[in-house]
Amino acid sequence: MAKGLPLRSENYSEWYNELVKKADLAENSDVRGCMIIKPYGFAIWEKMQRALDDMFKETGHSNAYFPLFIPKSYLSKEASHVDGFAKECAVITHYRLKNDENGNGVVVDPEAKLEEELIVRPTSETAIWNSYKNWIQSYRDLPILINQWANVVRWEMRTRIFLRTTEFLWQEGHTAHATKKEAVAETSMMLDVYEKFAHEWMALPVVKGRKTANERFAGANDTLCIEALMQDGKALQAGTSHFLGQNFAKAFDVKFQTKEGKLEYVWGTSWGVSTRLMGALVMAHSDDLGLVLPPKLAPIQVVIVPIYKNDEQLDQITELIQPMINELKANGVSVKFDISDQRPGWKFAEYELKGVPVRVAVGMRDLEKGLIEVARRDDLSKEQKTLEGASAYITALLEEIQEAIYTKALNFKTENTYEVNSWEEFEEKLEKGGFLSAHWDGSSETEDKIKELTKATIRCIPLDAKKEDGKCILTGNPSSKRVLFAKAY
Ligand code: AMP
Repeated sequence: MAKGLPLRSENYSEWYNELVKKADLAENSDVRGCMIIKPYGFAIWEKMQRALDDMFKETGHSNAYFPLFIPKSYLSKEASHVDGFAKECAVITHYRLKNDENGNGVVVDPEAKLEEELIVRPTSETAIWNSYKNWIQSYRDLPILINQWANVVRWEMRTRIFLRTTEFLWQEGHTAHATKKEAVAETSMMLDVYEKFAHEWMALPVVKGRKTANERFAGANDTLCIEALMQDGKALQAGTSHFLGQNFAKAFDVKFQTKEGKLEYVWGTSWGVSTRLMGALVMAHSDDLGLVLPPKLAPIQVVIVPIYKNDEQLDQITELIQPMINELKANGVSVKFDISDQRPGWKFAEYELKGVPVRVAVGMRDLEKGLIEVARRDDLSKEQKTLEGASAYITALLEEIQEAIYTKALNFKTENTYEVNSWEEFEEKLEKGGFLSAHWDGSSETEDKIKELTKATIRCIPLDAKKEDGKCILTGNPSSKRVLFAKAY
């Protein structure tokens, strides 16, 4: 157990909070529900951003930027959108402060009231579709494939660092298309991009599925999602991709002239992932010693800890180890050679806490024999290796670790996904956590009732769910396929 870190088995939630703090990822700010992302945490987020951004560009998207503030009247234009978001909007009413006449510091200047109140964007569909109205006239202007990297604000009541914060960082894609078919294809392509990113970069297995009407994005006709399982058996929605139909085009009067000269409403999609993924990364892989980072997202992939008695020995170690460092860097591996003034034992614990995938320890005696010690963070195994060929070995090892972390998480997900066929079984399995694959009669009332009774929600209707006749676990009414239930973050 790392110093001061609670055990996962004893208090998973405290373990998570403490780990985020102790590993220097982020801390809570004085503003409730907001977080300060520290350099080590931000370095991981930047790696996520870079990988995602590359994938968005490969699939034809460009980045743009829209304002933080949205006029209140825009938000009101799409009825179900405003219904969904009204409850959590931060509203700006004034633009100036003044000194209080009674000497109580500064107060809001009542004379500086905005004519139209502004909303801090909770998401940007309305601002963007308001612009698309001016950008789109003919079929030649379509498709528009835009992504924005931004911060958004949703006044959440129950917050948890990274997983659900009042302000969060994210990307939001907003696309406009001439046909329904094209928009539907875009919605599922972006879900595939998210799944690929989760798998290949985060080493996170996810279930691709469709949200029920209850859980659908406010303003969408269809919401697709990726759902992941955390080590405590709770599910986490890791990304969403929405088919917006013509809802925003109608609300903002965005029409285009077809090839045949007819006027038609434009079809839309939006899709997003947020800093919640940082929380998913921590909760899916880390252990009682600290973070376990997949090498592809680790800010430092290899740390080298020299073990020496005096400066002369350190000089000798440095000289012998330098070619390996150079070769690793040439292979694109990020390496830290830690010659800071701390004992080796302290450094070992520190890099375990920080989740550095590979640690190399080099002592004088071993080095004289041409040997180094290579330790893996994921399974904590250690091996002696020859210095010769070490850079190639370590470069390959990083790939092996990336795979191993994914396989472990995949096995966990498989072992914690249960088919249940009765209410008793449902309640019993739910205690243990995990995904419960069960029949549901398709009604929102039943879904609500199950949530009320057990706190479990339908995470998604898996896209690969097979047709299978069964009976709803609550009502016994007929059902044609299984859906995934879980308690969720
Ligand atoms: P949505 O626009 O509601 O579909 O959300 C887009 C993505 O942002 C989802 O995949 C969520 O995982 C994530 N998200 C939603 N609300 C929050 C929040 N309060 N904090 C962090 N991430 C969030």
